[in-house]
Amino acid sequence: MAAPSENARFCVLVIEDDAAVRNLMTMTLDLQGYRVEQADRGAVGLMAAASARPDLVILDLGLPDMDGSDVIRKLRSWSQVPILVVSARLEDSDKVAALDAGADDYIVKPFSVDELLARIRVALRRVERERASVSDTPVDCYDNDGLHIDYAAARVTRDGEEVHLTPMEYKLLCVLARNAGKVLTHNYILKEVWGTALSSDMASLRVFMATLRKKIETDPSHPKYIQTHVGIGYRMS
Ligand code: CA
Repeated sequence: MAAPSENARFCVLVIEDDAAVRNLMTMTLDLQGYRVEQADRGAVGLMAAASARPDLVILDLGLPDMDGSDVIRKLRSWSQVPILVVSARLEDSDKVAALDAGADDYIVKPFSVDELLARIRVALRRVERERASVSDTPVDCYDNDGLHIDYAAARVTRDGEEVHLTPMEYKLLCVLARNAGKVLTHNYILKEVWGTALSSDMASLRVFMATLRKKIETDPSHPKYIQTHVGIGYRMS
């Protein structure tokens, strides 16, 4: 875990109308050394995002003045800041709508402080990785715990051994790996890989995911690289 002083380079904007939850989040972030901005309405949050230029936005989906997905769409029209959605609702459709509108990840109320901090670290690691690849020579590969993708050579290895993938499996893997850390909805993946989002393609997605996992995961029933978000989509670590 990063020392609180190291976290000071990150600004986190919390948009949440419930004062108790907002105070808990801002206090937790503050104790971890993050710089924190807060807003209790969607419109106020959008203004704060424009003026503070945060590194991460934590957004409650149930705001009194605006629909959460509209806040995300407005923010996405000019910013690529990671958005962690907080949802009290049980319906997956709200989370899917938020992710399709451009959110990166979601957390469901009630959540633990540890869970919140873990999600924040994942999102900020992605920010750092993207910044590093902009400032240095871009390293066009994915590397995580033995799994290596060389995008230029279209070559995948696991623990040094070449993994032979079909073109579709490779395309699927690349979409997930290039968005590592983000939850991708079924619709998003179908559009990226198949070019359409027909419900009949869902079956193909499941089949290709199963064969891909068989090839890259040591234990496909306990996947290490690609996590399933039931009813929502997948996330690559
Ligand atoms: Ca709320």
